[in-house]
Amino acid sequence: MKLRKVSAAAATALVLALTATACGGDNGDGDDTGSGSGGGDKIKIGIKYDQPGLGLKKPDGSFSGFDVDVATYVAKELGYEPNQIEFVETKSADRENALARGDVKFIAATYSINDERAKKVDFAGPYLLAHQDLLVKADSDITESTDLNGKNLCSVTGSTSAQNVKDDFAPKANLKENSGYSECIAALQSGAVDALTTDDSILAGFAAQEQYKGQFKLAGLKLSNENYGIGVKKGDTATVDKINAALEKMVSDKAWDKAVTDNFGPANYKNEPAPKIGNIVK
Ligand code: GLU
Repeated sequence: MKLRKVSAAAATALVLALTATACGGDNGDGDDTGSGSGGGDKIKIGIKYDQPGLGLKKPDGSFSGFDVDVATYVAKELGYEPNQIEFVETKSADRENALARGDVKFIAATYSINDERAKKVDFAGPYLLAHQDLLVKADSDITESTDLNGKNLCSVTGSTSAQNVKDDFAPKANLKENSGYSECIAALQSGAVDALTTDDSILAGFAAQEQYKGQFKLAGLKLSNENYGIGVKKGDTATVDKINAALEKMVSDKAWDKAVTDNFGPANYKNEPAPKIGNIVK
């Protein structure tokens, strides 16, 4: 909500309208992420918009991906039907701030749980275990992370992928950081970079896109463990508990398996089994 852009009178009217609609739903915590104007409550959920198979905004304005399906299932358990969901783009570097500001109720956006982030946000989950990998051109001779020394490597600002490169497995690579992975895939295709690094789940989704078929390959390196959690505002333990219960139900009623098949099947991504809630693989 951009209150600064409206007049004081309009802002007062908006606040009154929000107060009037904030009583329904299962949200009731007084912030504006679980309610909206125009009739009926809304929930705002942060996802990625440019990661096929995980979080994608399609040209017709609809959304698809594993994170979208998880988010939709969780929202339902929190008391919100799909038509009450407002998806908001949360890029890698924006996630902690989006939660702190209260822009969204929760984030399901390939969001790895780690100690640094857990100082700023709370996490439910994990709900998926992925691994960092490399995507290279089909004819590339890069097969190991040591091959990246002196090479141009693309990743995303604010991601664990970029941090791991710098701290750990390719400090001598020439790392270019973009705000999203779609910019990296364009750079890989044009030859501006030699490799793109992030989670294998994301890379498989890109590689399977019609326009990229046969052009790229994954190295298959499992360079890290990426435990995807659902981020909520720091201190909102009530929402964490509800989301954990929803994730457990999603696994037990097999909706999790269906989401895997629907979203990772086309990319032929060999996912890990459903993680147990609270079980973080280091
Ligand atoms: N899962 C990693 C992370 O949370 C990489 C993917 C992303 O940038 O969302 O940083």
